[in-house]
Amino acid sequence: MYSELQITIPSSDFDKDVSVPSFSTDSDNIYTINLYNMTCTCPDFSKQQRGSYSKDDVRRMCKHLMRKYEKDIGLQGVSKFGRYILNHEYSLKKNIRYTNSEKLKYPVIVNFNSTDEWWYIYIRQEKEKDEYSRYGFFPGASGSWYDAKPFGIASELKLKIKGIQKEIKEQEKQAIEQEKQAAKKRQVEAEKFTSEDAPGAIGCFIVFIILVVLLFKACG
Ligand SMILES: [Zn+2]
Repeated sequence: MYSELQITIPSSDFDKDVSVPSFSTDSDNIYTINLYNMTCTCPDFSKQQRGSYSKDDVRRMCKHLMRKYEKDIGLQGVSKFGRYILNHEYSLKKNIRYTNSEKLKYPVIVNFNSTDEWWYIYIRQEKEKDEYSRYGFFPGASGSWYDAKPFGIASELKLKIKGIQKEIKEQEKQAIEQEKQAAKKRQVEAEKFTSEDAPGAIGCFIVFIILVVLLFKACG
């Protein structure tokens, strides 16, 4: 795992189920979180499969876990990037890639799920109040920054991000192709099985007919 994503797992003292209200303004839902197990019953936790990350990975955290962690545990055991994420309650997406610019001191963090959803770009700042800046980027043919763009490096980064997207798109295509091949193979196997099975079925049917005929003869 990338060190940027690392958090300290809370001690077993925090192994208790706690109810928290939904953040959504149009929902009265109550969710149950457990800081030690790093679990939450909210839709984001299940939909983003956050339970599949290890307990010391900040990608495992939904907003509810972030808020409670910050309040009860504090941010001492969290990386610089993790602190920024928890402060802003920006839940993370699955994939992390890095890119860079000669104009920047630190690598740029590129965070996304797939090529048909928003991507987020995190740039570490040296003089700003916040330690990072986050930019939205929409993939697609031309690729576009959402609202604000990183001043002075927007076009350079756009090209680099588009390069990553091209790579990811190729991987997604390969994964679909592999799945297709696997499905085809399964179908061939299934057909082979039925055709191998057929003589047995026919044999049974013949025996059945003979028995019926014999039965008729015996009765007649
Ligand atoms: Zn949650």
